[in-house]
Amino acid sequence: MNSKVRVRFAPSPTGPLHIGGVRTALYNYLFAKQNNGDFLLRIEDTDQTRFVPGAEEYIIESFKWLGLNFDEGVGVGGEYGPYKQSERKSIYKDYALLLVEKGKAYYAFDSAEELAEKRSEAEKNKTTFQYDCNTRQGLKNSLSLSKEETQRLIEEGEPFVIRFKFEQNEQIEFDDLIRGHISVNSSLLDDKVLYKSDGMPTYHLANIVDDHLMKISHVIRGEEWLPSCPLHVSLYRAFEWEAPLFAHLPLILKPDGKGKLSKRDGDRLGFPVFPLEWHDSKTNEISSGYRESGYLPEAVVNMLALLGWNDGTEQELFSLQELVEKFSIERISKHGAKFDMEKAKWFNHQYLQKLSNNSLAQGYQKELEAKGYEVSFDFVEKVVELVKERCSFAKELWQNSDYFFERPTQYEEKALKKRWKEGTSQRMNDIVAELNKIEDDALWGEKAEAFLMEYIPKNELNMGQIMNSIRLAIVGDTKGVNMVEIFKLLGKKESLERIQIASEKINL
Ligand code: GLU
Repeated sequence: MNSKVRVRFAPSPTGPLHIGGVRTALYNYLFAKQNNGDFLLRIEDTDQTRFVPGAEEYIIESFKWLGLNFDEGVGVGGEYGPYKQSERKSIYKDYALLLVEKGKAYYAFDSAEELAEKRSEAEKNKTTFQYDCNTRQGLKNSLSLSKEETQRLIEEGEPFVIRFKFEQNEQIEFDDLIRGHISVNSSLLDDKVLYKSDGMPTYHLANIVDDHLMKISHVIRGEEWLPSCPLHVSLYRAFEWEAPLFAHLPLILKPDGKGKLSKRDGDRLGFPVFPLEWHDSKTNEISSGYRESGYLPEAVVNMLALLGWNDGTEQELFSLQELVEKFSIERISKHGAKFDMEKAKWFNHQYLQKLSNNSLAQGYQKELEAKGYEVSFDFVEKVVELVKERCSFAKELWQNSDYFFERPTQYEEKALKKRWKEGTSQRMNDIVAELNKIEDDALWGEKAEAFLMEYIPKNELNMGQIMNSIRLAIVGDTKGVNMVEIFKLLGKKESLERIQIASEKINL
């Protein structure tokens, strides 16, 4: 095996990157960093029909946002480039021909119509057609035709593909770092196309040639590639190259565990399945992204790391550095990991709390200015300090603290019914008159509370009822932080005016 750990993330630019792909990249990244290895980005764009403009840029921007930097590859460079398969086109043909020469692959001239015919014939007989060691002798290829005939067809420009030649009844064995030992009989496998008639390699050929030329030591990828792995292992053997080690990652499942998490689940249940928002230029459809939904990249990384891996303890919060230290392929689960939206929010909540009040306040002040509120930074920072704990996203600051910036315009109906009875307005006026006597200094909030703690029982009033009426008058709702804090931050004048206004407005 190559002594240096070199791993790659090899997406095809066919659309936005699913978070399953992001997790694959993350595991590759963690493994590389842990082993002082290299983490490469290779773009697999040999299938021109599936190419989507903007997808490559999207992939690069996603990883920039997530803070997962590539050591080599598209957008970075390196000594094994180019890293985009469409720019490596000329490399693959020679390798396909090399396999033909070695007797490990063959030319096939069957037209699409002829193959379709075979398929429908098989369907009629309730079987399926496969181009393999059992059928290839009866088809139009360099194994069934004479050497001269094959030569003639090639010279005449007859379109051909090059197919891999699986031997009959051979056991293909390899070890997967997650799945363990795997053994497949070659007679079951179809002779996959390696090189297409349009002069492009297929994924299988390009992937193996590039992994070899780029000295990839470990292939860590999604489980959906496991069925292709016997072919890949066979290709390495056919080329007489040393194969990398393979690790096939379990799927990220729908929240109910029934199948692979899809974009549609995200749309249906209201959570993003893509790192960044994606605008589909064909359908004009916009799919939400973690970034635009207010997630912090550190939270997304932490959440994804734990979808299919844990360190064997109860620990859930890991910095990227800690993940690099603790990650291990052995502890990756064999089973799919259910996506949990509430957990995703929980992670974001945790990471939001780690942000300084100052940095959150900077963003929040801008938002407030845009809403037309002119407030000192100091005030915004204090508000942030008080309500941050109630927020999972920075965008929730407003709903949790609007009352610090504007007086209630109305009183929440249910709370009003429950908390403002006949006589409440009168009682509030008395309380305002008493609170007015308190000195307006830094301690006014504490003093106001101390006064109420004495006043309420002395007048044989219900503590909860009075305090809640005050809150309703000041906040307009049942929500909000501790009353003393509200008194303090709003100040004596504003607090008392709000109570007075409520007493006037609510006529009972
Ligand atoms: N291009 C493949 C994909 O889109 C890469 C699979 C692999 O890592 O081998 O997932």
